[in-house]
Amino acid sequence: MARVKILDKEFETSITEETILKSIDGVADKINAELADKNPLFVCVLNGAFMFAADLMKRISIPCQISFVKVASYSGTQTTGSVKQLIGFNEDVKGRTVVLIEDIVDTGITIDGLAKQVESMGAADVKIATMLFKPESCRPDIKPSYIGMNIPNAFIVGYGLDYDGYGRNLKDIYTLVK
Ligand code: 5GP
Repeated sequence: MARVKILDKEFETSITEETILKSIDGVADKINAELADKNPLFVCVLNGAFMFAADLMKRISIPCQISFVKVASYSGTQTTGSVKQLIGFNEDVKGRTVVLIEDIVDTGITIDGLAKQVESMGAADVKIATMLFKPESCRPDIKPSYIGMNIPNAFIVGYGLDYDGYGRNLKDIYTLVK
């Protein structure tokens, strides 16, 4: 197991790139099968989902469009509980099937806020595709349609996820060493 130090904290490998990519194959297969005739609009939630969105979209073979929003809710290793929208929606979502692409659903506050916003803008259907899901910390009413992997409730970095802006470039996922 490899260790990395980011700022004041130590992390060790918990999910390899190979495992991540295999789980994305599964997510893409499900989306390609279920949304083939829906002309979905994918919305990548920046910053953290950029790597997942890139790998996922390379595997999507149905007609679709992709756009981006930018939100921030974490400070250091803790969620702040409030979600700031830094770049908003500029697409017309009326009548569309929208798939929100998220890196990780932790409490679910971020993605639920965005899903409600897209619904209120007139989307016909809003689905959540998340690379990682923390079932122990998520609000029970929030159920992503597409999940790469379930993970325990620990702080992770890599594959797009950061610690104070660092570590997003790591190709594997690392868990904080306590
Ligand atoms: P939620 O609103 O579901 O509690 O948190 C969602 C956002 O918090 C994610 O998009 C991600 O940016 C951040 N987040 C949640 N858990 C982790 C984690 O373990 N590591 C990192 N780096 N960010 C996380």
